[in-house]
Amino acid sequence: MALDEFELIARYFRTARLERAGEASATVLGIGDDAAVLQPAAGQQLVVSTDTLVEGVHFPKEGPAAELGYRALAVAVSDLAAMAASPLGFTLALTLPQATPCWLQAFSSGLADAARDAGINLIGGDTTRGPLNIGVTVLGQVPAGQALTRSGARPGDLLCVGGNLGDGAAGLDVVLGNQLPVGLPMAAQDYLYQRFWRPMPQLALGQRLRGVASAGLDVSDGLLADAAHIASASGVRLLINGPQLPMSDALRSWSERQRLDWMLRGGDDYVLLFTLPRAARRWLEQWRAAGLAVSVIGEVQGGKGVQLDLGLGPQNVDGPAGYQHFRSTDD
Ligand code: ADP
Ligand code: MG
Repeated sequence: MALDEFELIARYFRTARLERAGEASATVLGIGDDAAVLQPAAGQQLVVSTDTLVEGVHFPKEGPAAELGYRALAVAVSDLAAMAASPLGFTLALTLPQATPCWLQAFSSGLADAARDAGINLIGGDTTRGPLNIGVTVLGQVPAGQALTRSGARPGDLLCVGGNLGDGAAGLDVVLGNQLPVGLPMAAQDYLYQRFWRPMPQLALGQRLRGVASAGLDVSDGLLADAAHIASASGVRLLINGPQLPMSDALRSWSERQRLDWMLRGGDDYVLLFTLPRAARRWLEQWRAAGLAVSVIGEVQGGKGVQLDLGLGPQNVDGPAGYQHFRSTDD
């Protein structure tokens, strides 16, 4: 690399915007030593998650660098939101084919935007040469025993979602330059483009779910696939009521069939899907009053798997419903 590794780190990653995007108090020692030192608050448990973005798999080849930086961190932070955690810090394992200053500048600036939006500090990482690969590890904390898992849903609970479904999948169509419906407003295109590249991890909602929701996760692979994860981890059946699925106005230019497919099977929405004991349903009003767009989309029942009611009664939803990396193409 023309830039030496240490110059590269100093110039693009040891920046105030990245190192001081969140609560300073937890970072005892950040970038520059052999490892970072963090101080979780008393009574808190540490929450850790890693996400890797590979070119051509998780994002289109030659994706814009600033957007890649944003998305790489935002999708990782979404896992903290899904666990009801608060952010402590993140590390970045970056593998690059070459050190191109304008690419690095844009990448680091998108990454810093996401760090600011999530309130999370960059505390370390690793930089190597090879095919483009972006690995982000996020660390967070949650009061002991209050992490939101996938396994606590019980029959009778309400099934809820924290925001619109289908925007991520429609956004990917916009990003890929696929044929768009005639008359799709420019503002809708812009909105969907942003929804793909700049997911909004639901940290505030996740933290409110502590001690209230019975189970939860973030929708990354598609509603049906992610609902199936809660169903199997909790040993229950989830019934999804199609007409209640929340959708943004930006999707209205597409056919009803396409919209429904995106809402059910499209991934990349990064909204929280959670179950709420009926006794806690009064919280829904409070969250809505606080500006959180929560909707009830179904309920938890005894049994297993996921059922979908599109108005003609519940139907079983079988088979691979979401995106799976190791599925062969001919099954
Ligand atoms: P070591 O050889 O001891 O593992 P490195 O040379 O890999 O150290 O890294 C030096 C310092 O720079 C470490 O604190 C590491 O966490 C940090 N670092 C390396 N790459 C990055 C990166 N892409 N983003 C943020 N910090 C980084
Ligand atoms: Mg190292």
